[in-house]
Amino acid sequence: MRHDTTGTTWKARAPMTGTAAASVARQEKDIAETVARLRAVFDSGVTRPAAGRRRRLHALRRLLRDHTPAIEEALYDDLRKGRTESHLTEIGGVLAEIEHALRHLDRWMRPRRVAVPMNIRPATARIHPEPLGVCLIIAPWNYPVTLTLNPLVGALAAGNAAVVKPSELAPATSALLADLLPRYVEAVAVVEGAVEETTLLLGQRFDHVFYTGNGTVGRVVAAAAAKNLTPVTLELGGKSPVFVDETADTAVTARRLAWGKFTNAGQTCVAPDYVLVTRAARDSLLDALPRAVHRMFGPDPRTSSDYGRIVDDRHFRRLTGLTAEGELLTGGVCDAEDRYIAPTVLTDVPPGAPVMTEEIFGPILPVLTVRDVHEAVDFVNARDKPLSLYAFTRDRKARRALLEKTSSGGLVYNAPMIHLGVPNLPFGGVGESGTGAYHGRASFDTFSHRKPVLSKPTRPDTLSLVYAPHTSRSFALVAKAVSRTHPLLGRRR
Ligand code: NAD
Repeated sequence: MRHDTTGTTWKARAPMTGTAAASVARQEKDIAETVARLRAVFDSGVTRPAAGRRRRLHALRRLLRDHTPAIEEALYDDLRKGRTESHLTEIGGVLAEIEHALRHLDRWMRPRRVAVPMNIRPATARIHPEPLGVCLIIAPWNYPVTLTLNPLVGALAAGNAAVVKPSELAPATSALLADLLPRYVEAVAVVEGAVEETTLLLGQRFDHVFYTGNGTVGRVVAAAAAKNLTPVTLELGGKSPVFVDETADTAVTARRLAWGKFTNAGQTCVAPDYVLVTRAARDSLLDALPRAVHRMFGPDPRTSSDYGRIVDDRHFRRLTGLTAEGELLTGGVCDAEDRYIAPTVLTDVPPGAPVMTEEIFGPILPVLTVRDVHEAVDFVNARDKPLSLYAFTRDRKARRALLEKTSSGGLVYNAPMIHLGVPNLPFGGVGESGTGAYHGRASFDTFSHRKPVLSKPTRPDTLSLVYAPHTSRSFALVAKAVSRTHPLLGRRR
């Protein structure tokens, strides 16, 4: 399929030639046939039984194990990811998600009985999880394996068929997944491509659309899905702040921040975006940060096999433009040819500078000084709700203030990003950082409909009270029952 990174939809382009129009029509037909084929697979019922779900999860695990070197190579080609990082943040993460799903699948699938109120008894009620149907998973480029396959684990565990659309900005990984996934996992199709192909996909009717990426495209996806009333999960980004105060261990804080910020050259949705440090902790943190960077990547990070590159020229230009304001504490070295930007820390950045108004998504860390946690809370609350909020503090009041007075997709004390490694924690954003969540059970729930199932015997016919004609006796009985169960009326008695 054609790769297009211009960011415009084909509909908005100059008039198409006859050949281009024919090619789009062909693509549209191919995509419609792919979706129809998966719908037929889903409708046949084969994706529903637990054994089949397990088989597909095992197959996905086998794919990862059989092709580990090829996956490492693709990740290196796309993002210059090192081997250890590829295992930590990509292959290992998906394997862990698969293991977790396999271990808990029976429990997740089991219908759950719930209590029935007196006035409906005798009856039994249960919540029965059922698959949604054919799901569309649209993935971004920054963790092109994890962010494509982790949602797929949830979709398969929940008994769905799925179309996967990897990101065109990670072309090596996209091509590899397109080759391998259909060979290993039934009920899954891969459509490669960019805006044009995604637009065509979004013109189809799906039962769920799971999108990971930026909020601008998130809106496009939500609007397209709305036409078919298709539910969406939007895993978006934003600026994830870090608060550091004088009770923190600044040496460890600096190391963890350097790890969180400069892994994958800062191209991580939950990377610390900027730091708010109290005046009392500022000098100590600013002293420790360059040392932490040096310890991780050596005197010249360009030569470190653990340091990545910027995904494309557009992002490279955007990022170098962000270093214009503020004082350089460390880094600042760039090489356009290699798309290399050194781990960079800026201080004294004006809050209105572009680096503070847009998501950085690269290896630049602005550090701003605040009076105390209350100023940090106000700073965070004056902006969009972040995907993650990090706090390095031992002060219980400060922790509580951040917990109770701010809203974010997640809150982690004393370490960035590690909440993604806890499958029992739902992962997702709130407000501008996204809607819906996944990982572990949350993934299963996202890709399932929780169907309420109620069963009531016909005899004795305890519903006779509700049938017309209503008499004064039935009114008295209803009024009594209502006063007994209604919270306000009940309290008055
Ligand atoms: P991207 O450019 O790869 O886009 C994501 C997907 O959307 C791709 O598959 C792409 O083909 C498709 N797409 C792009 N433009 C489109 C359009 N106009 N219409 C339809 N589809 C389109 O990735 P990105 O958006 O640059 O990813 C980075 C953003 O994603 C950051 O904001 C980051 O914070 C966020 N992100 C969030 C998470 C999370 O889990 N919440 C994870 C990773 C990235």
